[in-house]
Parts: sequence; structure tokens; C-alpha cells
Amino acid sequence: MLTSASGYPVVVRVFALLICCLPVFSSSVTIRNVNVVDVETGDVRKGVNVVIDRGYITSVGVAPKPKSSIDGKGRYLIPGLWDMHVHLWPQKALLGSYVASGVLGVRDMGSNFARTKEWRESVEAARKIGPRIYTSGTPVDGPGLEVATMEVVRAGSPDAARRAVDAIDRQGVDFVNILSALSRDSYYALAQRARVIRAVFAGHVPDAVTVSQALDARQKSMEHLLGIAFACSSEEAELREARLLAIDAKDEAALSQIRLRSYNTFSEAKATDLFKRMARFDVWQTPTLTVRKQAEAEYEFNQRVVKLMQSYGVGLLAGTDSGEPHVAPGSSLHKELEAFVKAGLTPAQALRTATINPARYFGSEVRAGSIAPGKRADLVLLDANPLDDIRNTRRIASVIVRGRLLDGKELKRVSKETEATWRGDTPFTEVLPKPPRQRRKPRKR
Ligand SMILES: [Zn+2]
Repeated sequence: MLTSASGYPVVVRVFALLICCLPVFSSSVTIRNVNVVDVETGDVRKGVNVVIDRGYITSVGVAPKPKSSIDGKGRYLIPGLWDMHVHLWPQKALLGSYVASGVLGVRDMGSNFARTKEWRESVEAARKIGPRIYTSGTPVDGPGLEVATMEVVRAGSPDAARRAVDAIDRQGVDFVNILSALSRDSYYALAQRARVIRAVFAGHVPDAVTVSQALDARQKSMEHLLGIAFACSSEEAELREARLLAIDAKDEAALSQIRLRSYNTFSEAKATDLFKRMARFDVWQTPTLTVRKQAEAEYEFNQRVVKLMQSYGVGLLAGTDSGEPHVAPGSSLHKELEAFVKAGLTPAQALRTATINPARYFGSEVRAGSIAPGKRADLVLLDANPLDDIRNTRRIASVIVRGRLLDGKELKRVSKETEATWRGDTPFTEVLPKPPRQRRKPRKR
């Protein structure tokens, strides 16, 4: 008999391989007597049966006696979580770590597109267990130094910016991502071209552009609260001017003084006007509170504006910048949810930033974002109620990804595979409270 290197007969290996590669959404399963968390209303529907068939939820309520079922008694079912700011740039896919943490969707803000596309296709075809991937591929930036981890397109003129949008969009990305060094002229050229070809553009508010200008240009989402402190300052014009001078002079001390000044000249009236417009124009914010926690004054300021944004109906998205050193794929999302609650959001509001809000952002709320018939079966079964304490999102009993159930043992296996890779790649200990400053890219100020 033919035997492979592992000692198993080839027939057995081929059969095992076939089973592994079968579409994972073919089974039907019921979660019996479970508490369903309604992220939209912030209520819990107690003791219902959730029926899943071929990757979709087919009923939520009293189902006929199920054939194949899991006992959900005392447990809480939430929609799969989204991390809306990641970088899939490590050499190997760390997709299992996301899934094991209940993160069943990611928005990739910059990576090697060819490789990410391959991963995206493998996940879509159920050849690989991983989160759904929305990707920008290569981001567009202005002139500057090379970044070791991420390839960028350097657009040094309006013409180059227009060409970049066309080229990136043609590759089949989900949106065009922009970074901080883009000049104002190039930014407007890019925004205009994106509108003509109906490409979504999102990302950093570039240093040369105000938040108000980016709002008027209908940038779909803004990251890291960039530009917000200036936009809410009663001395915005002066501070922006001083900052440009300080950047030219590479004067770090002056820059931090200017930053502090912007926090101290916060105008509630300006903020109110700005956030109302953000809500009206449907422009979203991904604050990435946790990763930017290094300076206390900045963190406190960020918490304050996030709370205010929530109260004016600005769409908030949970994102972690996972892929950066010290930001663990998957588990860091739970820290971000906790940071939202510490900033003053309710647990339900925090949960929305990683469930129904991402679905609305993508325009896919008919199929995703909450637990209802017709929606995708991307679900997380928890041992405790996350509405009582947001930290309970970490208490994962099992995950249902595209209708396929992964219990605790399987989750350990999928996360272990990737953890080993990640550890070898860059050492990490989740999100450290104070990452060393020299590790941060200077453009992300
Ligand atoms: Zn990023």
C-alpha cells in the first residue's frame, strides 16, 4: 500500500484532506435554549432556539425539536465581532487567532494585496478558517520614507493620486485607504476621482487636510481620531500653522506643547457642530483608543471626544491596529470594547461598534450585524452576559463561523497554529500599557 511521509496510507490522507476541504456551511445545527443578545435594542431574548442552516440563521424562536443541537442553557449568543482596523501584513495568516477571539470579520487597512487576496479567497471558499476580510490592499500616501512593514503607493501630485485610485481600484480592493502625508491637492484629486469611479475612500485624515475638509469630501471613515483635537480647538488655525513649523524644524518638544494646547482649548460648541455634521454625512470614526494609550493627556482627551461623538450619533467602529507590534490579533479587540465602556459608552453601545455598526458601514445589515433569520451564521457563544460586563465578551464557549461550530478545543487548536507563527514573527504580550515610543511610526501622530 502507498504510504505518505507521515506514515498514514495515502488513501486515508486524501480522504482526510477531502473532509477538511468540504464547504463548512453544509450542516444544519440548532443552539437550544440560549439567551440571544439583541445588539440593536440592548435587550436579551431568553431561552430561544437558534436554527442555522447552510451558513445562515433560519429561525430565532421556538423551533421544532432539533435533530442536531447544542445546549445553550445559561449562555449568551452575540453576533460575530469585527475588528475594523487591522493590518494583515505578517508573513503568515494569523486568521485563527481572530476566530478564536470571536473576531469573525476584519477590515484590513493595508497589507500585501496579492497575499491578502489569496487569504480572502481561501476563507470565502471555506478552504481556510478565518474572518471575513475587507481589504484596501496598498494604501496611498504622500512623499516620505519607506515603511518596512507596509508597502504604500507614493502619490506626489494630484495626477499621481488620480492614477493611484484607478490602479488600486482595478486590482479588486474593497476600498482605497489613505495615509497622513498626502498633500491637500493630491487629497482632493483622489477624493474626486474616487467619487467618479464610485470607489470608497477611507483612512487617516492627512496632516495637510482639516477634519472639516475631509468631511466635506465625504471621506467614509476617519482613523485614530486624527485631526479631531485641532478641529475642536478654538485656536485651530494658529495651532495648525504652529504645527507645520514645528514639523519642518523637527521640534518634538514644540509638537507636544501644541498637542497639549489643542486639548486645553477644546471648544464644546465647535465639537458639537462637527460631530453633528459627521453623523449627518454618515462619516465614521475608528478611534483605536487602546493602541494610542501611550500619553495620558491624549488618552483622556480621546475618551472624552468618543463619549461626545456617541451622544451626537457619530458612527463609531471598534478597531485595534492589530498587526502593529504589541497589538495581538483578536484578543486586542476585547480591550478596545472595554476602552469604549471606560470612555462612558454602555456595554450595548460598545458591542454595536463591533457588530451592527460595521454591518451598517459596509451596507450589509440585511445579512450581518445581528441575530435574525436571513442573517449569516457568524456567532459567538459566551458563558456570561456581555451587557452586564463587557469583559464577558472574552468568555467564549464556542464560535460559529459561516455556520460551522468550533468548540473550545477546536478554537485552541486554530489559535495555537497561528500563535506559534506570530511569536516567531514579532514578540508580543497583547497590548502593553505603554509601548516604547521609538516603535511608533512618526507619521501617526
Ligand atoms: Zn493602521
